[in-house]
Amino acid sequence: MAINLFTPQFDIEACLAEIRLCLERGWTGAGFKTIEFEDAWKRYCGLPHAHFLSSNTVGLHLAIHILRTRNGWSDDDEVITTPITFVSSNHTIRYERMVAVFADVDASGCLDPDSVIARITPKTRAVMFVGLGGNVGRYTEVLKICREHGLAMILDAAHMAGTRDASGRHVGHDADVAVFSFQAVKNLPTADAGMICFSDAADDARARKLAWLGINKDTYSRTSSAGAYKWMYDVDEIGFKYHGNSIMAAIGLVQLRHLDRDNAYRRTLATWYDAFLTDALGVRRVEMNPTCESSRHLYQIQVGNRDELLLALNRHEVFPGVHYRDNTLYPMYAYARGTCLEAARFSDTTLSLPLHLGLTRADIEMVSELVSRYAR
Ligand SMILES: *Cc1c(COP(=O)(O)O)cnc(C)c1O
Repeated sequence: MAINLFTPQFDIEACLAEIRLCLERGWTGAGFKTIEFEDAWKRYCGLPHAHFLSSNTVGLHLAIHILRTRNGWSDDDEVITTPITFVSSNHTIRYERMVAVFADVDASGCLDPDSVIARITPKTRAVMFVGLGGNVGRYTEVLKICREHGLAMILDAAHMAGTRDASGRHVGHDADVAVFSFQAVKNLPTADAGMICFSDAADDARARKLAWLGINKDTYSRTSSAGAYKWMYDVDEIGFKYHGNSIMAAIGLVQLRHLDRDNAYRRTLATWYDAFLTDALGVRRVEMNPTCESSRHLYQIQVGNRDELLLALNRHEVFPGVHYRDNTLYPMYAYARGTCLEAARFSDTTLSLPLHLGLTRADIEMVSELVSRYAR
């Protein structure tokens, strides 16, 4: 049996039961389960606000759009970001015609605070921090820099469902906005969905409105409130079609019930890798910040012969991943090529080993043995 990087698991009967409720009620769109999921998510994370969306990508766009228009940021103002991320993070900066300024990463693959400081200019408005693999990296130091320089903190928490920081709180509570992903291969998988969590109540209200085209009252509250004027709504500004739906929320509700247990098992898999790989020559582990309780979305190692090792593992039906290719290798970000040396090295040497709930200790031992055999 092939061992893939990630194979999502679903509590199928429980998911079908939640979806059935949507179908029986005739309510598959926004409202109903999306509200239930938002409430469950807020209870789980202890975050004050949460709005359910169709993806993390649209959430990051909404985050930048809302902060930009509220604060009067201009075209050509800058957002400091990382080259080691899924392109979503950086494209969303460009959707708002702002400039993605790339800072380097440290050994964790997350933004290096020293490099962030070095990239600040009078046009810098925000920092996009990506918690790679569920790691907080040196987020706290980067946040402190943001506060000292009056910059907004946008946390791309696509890998961080369930990550708790050194204070024991779920991540996101100290960012201006945190955006989560519940895409099919994330650690809280649905099929496609996301959650945007603003710290500010007015930003949250605006996110709700803008995620549904700028309409200032959602269908659900119109149909649930009696009265002759329930068809009436205002459109305050040009928004987007970004909200999530009840089918995805139904799956999310079920997945959330298992999230802590699932993440704990992911951490166990990681400790097995740690143990089996201790003596592997030429293998360096990408370290988790030990103060956080990570979702362990990824288990990453660095080797000198990454591409060769990937092919060797593939020959044994083991299919790791790469997170991520240095984004400055893509043409639209090529202007920053050569400015982030550690990121370039990270991109060339790092691979993500299979990590999902279907794996056993024997699988981890087998993969580790292959890594030890072929890594240089
Ligand atoms: C998956 C991912 C995204 C995009 O999430 P979607 O929900 O698929 O839009 C953004 N950033 C990172 C780091 C991701 O891994």
